[in-house]
Amino acid sequence: MVKNQPPLNSPGNLPSQAHVVIIGGGVIGCSVAYHLTKLGWNDVLILERKELTSGTTWHAAGLIVTPDSDELAVEMATYTRELIKSLEVETGQSTGFKEIGYLQLACTPDWLEERRRMAVAARRLGVNYQEISPTEVKKLWPLADTSDVLAGFYTPEDGRANPVDVTMALAKGARMGGAKIFEETEVVGINKENGCVTGVVTNKGQIKAEIVVNCAGLWGRQLGKLAGVNVPLQAAEHYYLLTQPIEGVHSDLPIIEDFERYSYFREEVGGLLVGFFEPIAAPWGVDGIPKDFAFGEINPDWKRMMPYIEIAMGRVPVVKNAGIHKFFCGPESFTPDGGPLLGEAPELKNFFVAAGLNSLGILQSGGVGKIMAEWIVNGYCPVESQHIDIARCLKFQGTQKYLTDRTVETLGLQYKLIYPNFTNKTARDVRKTAIHNQLANAGAFFVEGMGWEIPDWYAPAGVEAKIKEYSWGRQNWFEYLAAEHKACRENVVIMDVTSMSKFLVQGRDAEKVLNQICSNDVAVPVGRVVYTQWLNERGGMEADLTVTRLAEDKFFIVSAGDFYTHDLMWLKQHIPYDAHAFVTDVTSGYTLMNIQGPKSRQLIKRLTTSDVSKEAFPYMSAQEIDIKYAVVQVLRVTYEGELGFELYVPTEFSSHVYEAVVEAGQDLGLKHAGFQALNSLRIEKAYREFGYDMDNTDTPLEAGLSFAVKFDKPGGFIGREALMRHKESGPLKYRMVQFLLDDPGPLLYGDEVIYRDGKIVGYLQTGAYGFTLGGAIGMGFVHHEVDASIEFINSGAYEIDIAGKRYPARASLRPLYDPLNTRVRS
Ligand SMILES: Cc1cc2nc3c(=O)[nH]c(=O)nc-3n(C[C@H](O)[C@H](O)[C@H](O)COP(=O)(O)OP(=O)(O)OC[C@H]3O[C@@H](n4cnc5c(N)ncnc54)[C@H](O)[C@@H]3O)c2cc1C
Repeated sequence: MVKNQPPLNSPGNLPSQAHVVIIGGGVIGCSVAYHLTKLGWNDVLILERKELTSGTTWHAAGLIVTPDSDELAVEMATYTRELIKSLEVETGQSTGFKEIGYLQLACTPDWLEERRRMAVAARRLGVNYQEISPTEVKKLWPLADTSDVLAGFYTPEDGRANPVDVTMALAKGARMGGAKIFEETEVVGINKENGCVTGVVTNKGQIKAEIVVNCAGLWGRQLGKLAGVNVPLQAAEHYYLLTQPIEGVHSDLPIIEDFERYSYFREEVGGLLVGFFEPIAAPWGVDGIPKDFAFGEINPDWKRMMPYIEIAMGRVPVVKNAGIHKFFCGPESFTPDGGPLLGEAPELKNFFVAAGLNSLGILQSGGVGKIMAEWIVNGYCPVESQHIDIARCLKFQGTQKYLTDRTVETLGLQYKLIYPNFTNKTARDVRKTAIHNQLANAGAFFVEGMGWEIPDWYAPAGVEAKIKEYSWGRQNWFEYLAAEHKACRENVVIMDVTSMSKFLVQGRDAEKVLNQICSNDVAVPVGRVVYTQWLNERGGMEADLTVTRLAEDKFFIVSAGDFYTHDLMWLKQHIPYDAHAFVTDVTSGYTLMNIQGPKSRQLIKRLTTSDVSKEAFPYMSAQEIDIKYAVVQVLRVTYEGELGFELYVPTEFSSHVYEAVVEAGQDLGLKHAGFQALNSLRIEKAYREFGYDMDNTDTPLEAGLSFAVKFDKPGGFIGREALMRHKESGPLKYRMVQFLLDDPGPLLYGDEVIYRDGKIVGYLQTGAYGFTLGGAIGMGFVHHEVDASIEFINSGAYEIDIAGKRYPARASLRPLYDPLNTRVRS
């Protein structure tokens, strides 16, 4: 919050060449530069259009706090806090860090439950996150009204820092490591050749560079456009109020966060800084950021914010009588899903992005810088990438309309109680499948995923598809879900899973290139479906999918919708330039109707002249068959653990086929089923969900998928050597295990801690209710440093900790449902 630091400009003229050019001298650009020099890369330039920190960084409130249930978020914040503490000793530049503690309030039973659940996860991750009583809250913060407080959650080691000083310390550290900084140097163009960045154009001349990093904060999107790169972020108004000095306010007061009042409080020169995360935010700069905006402020919208100010004052009533010194509004950038945009841009090789920090840029700065530096130097993401990788973004998310609409919601999500089945409310109805209206008529309750309207569950006839009350327990749709689950196990269901990504790979070399990319063997006869992973050079999983051979030179790939951009990029990047193999995205070309359940064959039989018997159409095979007037590509696969058929229906035939299926299924007990049922069914069968149960940091061996790895196939595959080393390096330390709670009452959602013989051995990645098995089920890695052997897993007594209470659970390495695959192969 203090500006006017001495300029850090490097002496001499702007170089004409550098190994790495970082665009933007905010906290993120400086941290990336600092960490690159730590890895021995010192030919690094920071180019800043105005002065260091002049974008968003200079006016941040400087909260440096660590609790979160997300492992990566905790790691980034904890690393940053420790780095900030040590930077002064290293660089001689103070960071203004003060360990004043961080106190979050829970004032309703739901918030208390949410915090307790989070506390279990945060403590497992090493955060000293203590639950304290309202009396103790009052002792720590005598000026706060604690009459409605049910509990406080306190982290004494957290605190605040001065964002400008932190940035200057990082910049100084970077310079000590050899980096150069040029202020008043604006990047106005990006040079590229053959899909690779080659340098930048500035207002002072051109610079050739092997690597360019876009750390331009809220300018990140427009800078991305110069490079042809989609950086979907949007600036929004972000507020805090500074009061005059208040008696009783002192610099050792902990930071208080009060979610229900959308506000936080900390001391500032004897008064209070009251910050806001209002539930309905205001995007800013939608017509472009003013040309010379630097150390800029936005005229506060008193009228919009007044109700929130009044609500906040209720927590610390003395604020009402304190004079207001300043009501500050500055811009900060927000992303569609609230995660940062990091990593190499899918559109342009060697062009990296580190932007869109969603108001957490100071407290995550160290972690982001470290991850980015390792990503750039080593060529891969060193941590779980799903929620941070810019390759998760879609083109439509970069449109102004989408960003404006979505940003209204994203700022407030920081303080919103996120229930397990949360879905965004803004920017909806973006991508609808061809049978959307029919599904709505059938009672679908839709949630949003990557812009798709996804049927989550179905209300029975005559009942409105609506969530009556969000909670951690059984909600009003629990019984509808149970009926969908039962219908799939006993009769037949139809699911619309069109949101899956679908690609064709065609050409003379298609088999050869795919066999390099896939760890399973896809050199199979025409008509076979192969379940496989794509591995990185370290043996970690990059994708989980099926590959179906449609012809000698034609393969059909189906992977998760969440990974559309990433998987398409991975495929294209790993096909050699001179190979005769070409990728076509056919995602929008097909509606994917999933017909699953023991009566699915009977249903399909009624609609086709083809032979769909077990012998003629076996498990893991594909055929083009007629369904009434339509010709449909059908895969005999299942993610539900039943006899089932996936119908890839050309989009314009969708209504015709859907109506035929629904009519033919009437007397077979056909039900519509949504993604909640899909999750409940697949978890009983212990089918892994990529990105949730396992990710790029896990190997197929740990995930229990070695059956899908063909070490001996001719020519090997990407990641084989690393996986071989992993296999031969000794016993596994982690193993994926399925858990079923003994008590049929509680529900599981993921992040719950696993105890074996009273000791923590891991946590659940995902959870759902298993209606057939009769209890909540979770999937998680069990860790044992010596040997996570089958004997070790099978011999322990397990418990799962839900919000501080432990429940006995059964652990199994084999699927608890249909372990011999008899239903699947029937
Ligand atoms: C009111 C408020 C309170 C906040 N409080 C906190 C907090 O308590 N804790 C926390 O962790 N975070 C907080 N934040 C968020 C935090 O400030 C940001 O996330 C962080 O500063 C973002 O840093 P950055 O480096 O990405 O962006 P910036 O600081 O904006 O840096 C980007 C830089 O790029 C430069 N640039 C842009 N285009 C070009 C170009 N073409 N050529 C050269 N240079 C260019 C800009 O001039 C700018 O200096 C707060 C934000 C606000 C608004």
